[in-house]
Amino acid sequence: MEAKTLLEKYNNLIEHVNNLKLKYSVNQNISVIAVTKYSDIDTVKNFAGLGLNVSLAESKAQSLRDRASTIKNVSWHFLGRIQTNKLKYIIPNTSLIHSVDSIEIIEDINKESIKNNKIQNILIQFNISEEEQKGGIELKEANNIFDKASQYQNINIIGLMGMAEYTNDESIIEREFGLLKTKFESLKTEYKNFDLKELSMGMSGDYHLGIKHGATMIRIGSLLFN
Ligand SMILES: *Cc1c(COP(=O)(O)O)cnc(C)c1O
Repeated sequence: MEAKTLLEKYNNLIEHVNNLKLKYSVNQNISVIAVTKYSDIDTVKNFAGLGLNVSLAESKAQSLRDRASTIKNVSWHFLGRIQTNKLKYIIPNTSLIHSVDSIEIIEDINKESIKNNKIQNILIQFNISEEEQKGGIELKEANNIFDKASQYQNINIIGLMGMAEYTNDESIIEREFGLLKTKFESLKTEYKNFDLKELSMGMSGDYHLGIKHGATMIRIGSLLFN
């Protein structure tokens, strides 16, 4: 896709985001995370070349490594399932991992971050839709994981991520986003040792509801790149 088309789509999205902020009277900053997993490399280069100061995200470890080593003028996020043996591709190439969902993975990220001499920012992914395939920990496991995570020096939990059920029933999506927002607020007051500030919630089909319920990051793929 050409740069001009990409810029139009991006500007359109930002206009919608700004309208939604007015509509729902929210005043938090909302970052667009451009999910490039469906796009060819030329499209990603064109998008990065726009110089929009937008983070890009991949969901496969090798794609992240390949693309982040080719396109260096942007920050890269990771949001796919994490396999420990692939962390060596992820950690050196990402400023934020959205999809951390077990204490074992936290321990492994910590180890790989020590090797890379970095503090890795992460989000904890919650399974708010209770669909098996989506990954994420259960809301009631939150304290358990935050208590244990506090001992690892090379990770920093900066927020939460969740994916709503894929449905046309907006009341279901709103309920799930609402639950995550509530959990976010309570963890913020309970765990002052972490700098919890990001709520990654909403994709192409439901970002309007993410914004309504307090998202600070929306992860947009198909709307920008299809
Ligand atoms: C692919 C993906 C997205 C983007 O999905 P779209 O519906 O295309 O915007 C967002 N979040 C995660 C975790 C993804 O895997």
